[in-house]
Amino acid sequence: MSWLSRRRVIAATAAGGLAAGTRVAAQDGGGNADRSHSNPGPRDPGLAALNPSAFTPPPTDHGDVPAFKYPFSVAHTRVQDGGWARQVTEKDFPIAKSIAGVNMRLTSGGIRELHWHLPAEWSIMLAGKARITAVDQQGRHFAADVGVGDLWFFPSGIPHSIQGLPPDGCEFLLAFDDGAFSEFDTFLISEWMAHTPKEVLAKNFAAPESAFAQIPKQQLYIFQADPPPPLADDLAQSHQPLVPEPFNFAMMAQPPIQTKGGTVRIADSRNFKASKTIAAALVEVEPHGLRELHWHPNADEWQYYISGTARMTVFSSGGRARTQDFAPGDVGYIKRADGHYIENTGTDTLRFLELFRSDRYEDVSLAQWMANTPKELVQAHLHLAEDLIDHLPQDKPLVLPS
Ligand code: MN
Ligand code: MN
Repeated sequence: MSWLSRRRVIAATAAGGLAAGTRVAAQDGGGNADRSHSNPGPRDPGLAALNPSAFTPPPTDHGDVPAFKYPFSVAHTRVQDGGWARQVTEKDFPIAKSIAGVNMRLTSGGIRELHWHLPAEWSIMLAGKARITAVDQQGRHFAADVGVGDLWFFPSGIPHSIQGLPPDGCEFLLAFDDGAFSEFDTFLISEWMAHTPKEVLAKNFAAPESAFAQIPKQQLYIFQADPPPPLADDLAQSHQPLVPEPFNFAMMAQPPIQTKGGTVRIADSRNFKASKTIAAALVEVEPHGLRELHWHPNADEWQYYISGTARMTVFSSGGRARTQDFAPGDVGYIKRADGHYIENTGTDTLRFLELFRSDRYEDVSLAQWMANTPKELVQAHLHLAEDLIDHLPQDKPLVLPS
């Protein structure tokens, strides 16, 4: 039995809650390698089924590579009237130094309160629709309605809000350009008002102190309200100009890069001008296809898996390699310059995001490097078939078919 078929049996028996060791030995004729893969002790069949590469890693894995997967499914969810939020930060996921992620749901009318924070905020809408608003340092205003696949970016310190729209609000992913940032530690309009003496508020807003009798005593963070009026009505309320570079971007409106095994859409400061500190790629890999062997010379990669299932192997310096499995809602992380590839392990399209704390997307392709290096030099290292060397792609393949 090969490594791959053995891991399938283990995954299948794990899903069925049976003793994998017994099943494997029975199907295998009890060869030494497979006896060594038995697991008669305590186990969690659900987790084992989701993580076949943990117990039965490919034999090419080697050495000690820090964990590079963290599921949003195990993060604490802060539930309030109007929605919920959960986060994956450096505190729970120590490798993730450059970016912290938040997954948030807002009901129809539910508001993520007016606030600001030190890191910049990048986002993609995952389900439903929202109204987002912001005002910049020159008083220029911004409001837009965003739907599935749309992005937004609020620069460091720019105040903003998010509100779920009918019929069912929204769910989205936020990425902050600092892995240590906590979404539960932001500057909230309600808290600043609550922690300012009424006589100061009266002076600041040129109103009697009694005008502030009803302000909330505690933060709102997420709260239920009525859905907003049409966007045009909201925009008409300010007489200041609009922000010069829109904070939203219709990622799905741009034609994707078509590859042999899927598509790639890139959004960075070259096309999404406001997004100066986060570069993004949305990658689609057809069933059993491969996001090619590559690395990123400019930044760590923070990943979010949207749909399908995947297996990623990270190749680190010193000949180390480790494989982990990914499902929707999982976060992956690859340190700058570490080699990696991602396989679609399922029968559906794999869809995931690659995010970088950078103004631009950059990657180095192993195949393209080899193709554009003198072939005698490559051949002296790898002893490959001459035909393979001659047909290496001088253009980047990005995603390959099965
Ligand atoms: Mn924010
Ligand atoms: Mn990558």
